[in-house]
Amino acid sequence: MAAHRLRPCVGRLFGMGPELGSGRRAYSAFQAFTEVLRLPSKQLTKLVFPLQELHGHFVPGSRPDLHLNIFHPSLEDIARAESFFTASARNRIEYLTSAVRLDHAPDLRRPEVCFIGRSNVGKSSLIKALFSLAPEVEVRVSKKPGHTKKINFYKVGKHFTLVDMPGYGYRAPEDFVDMVETYLKERKNLMRTFLLVDSVVGIQKADSIAIEMCEEFALPYVMVLTKIDKSSKGHLLKQVLQIQKFVDTKTQGCFPQLFPVSAMTCSGIHLLRCFIADITGNLKTTGFQFS
Ligand code: GDP
Repeated sequence: MAAHRLRPCVGRLFGMGPELGSGRRAYSAFQAFTEVLRLPSKQLTKLVFPLQELHGHFVPGSRPDLHLNIFHPSLEDIARAESFFTASARNRIEYLTSAVRLDHAPDLRRPEVCFIGRSNVGKSSLIKALFSLAPEVEVRVSKKPGHTKKINFYKVGKHFTLVDMPGYGYRAPEDFVDMVETYLKERKNLMRTFLLVDSVVGIQKADSIAIEMCEEFALPYVMVLTKIDKSSKGHLLKQVLQIQKFVDTKTQGCFPQLFPVSAMTCSGIHLLRCFIADITGNLKTTGFQFS
């Protein structure tokens, strides 16, 4: 069963035809990750540590400033983190509610992580990929122009809440800034903000506004680079280095290590799950050298 659910991602990553398994079955994340562990080491690195794989394309000794090891958990830690994202009777993962204003948001004691990004950056695809071990979770998508966009809350067991913020930029609702700003500024249990940037086009004006907002509120945030499967290796390397330089020289609150991901191939998804499990206090990894 595990093999079935995992194969779509592993398959796409290495050019096999996608083969979707039946979505409605419980299965063990450990089993699924066991399949990842059986991959040849190059392929495993590409799937689990995409930044490290990119780094391998530099001439040895040229030492570009990519921070690879600030968060570098063991494969065992990553396997443990998978269990937090695996739905079961004891670990219910589900859509909770939506809110248009912070005072409509559920009063939750659990730690929260939120995802923000421009419309079309790949946010719903990323959230679906993160929840691929809980196939019954219904990821809410509202894209119709004129529809009020909402903040969507997802419960991940007893461990944390994942919050999907409305996309900004093109066709953002007028009250969007108020809604997002208030949430980011006032949400007490918000542990980390994941700011998504499209790796194909790099940091755009709307992204800069979001970055300024995170900086102004002194939020701890993380830059996630989406759609890494779409570019040539050379283009991706160039973008990653530019964004890394920006993070190193122009930001204070941004976590120095970038998280490149592809919702299409699942590259970087396991590492991101592990990071989320760790920063919400659920997993004490051995790989954290900075917080
Ligand atoms: P959102 O508006 O930020 O929620 O963006 P979506 O998740 O709806 O993605 C916008 C478009 O980008 C869709 O056509 C997706 O299929 C595509 N997309 C999203 N993530 C990826 C990815 O990792 N790789 C590729 N190739 N396309 C992606």
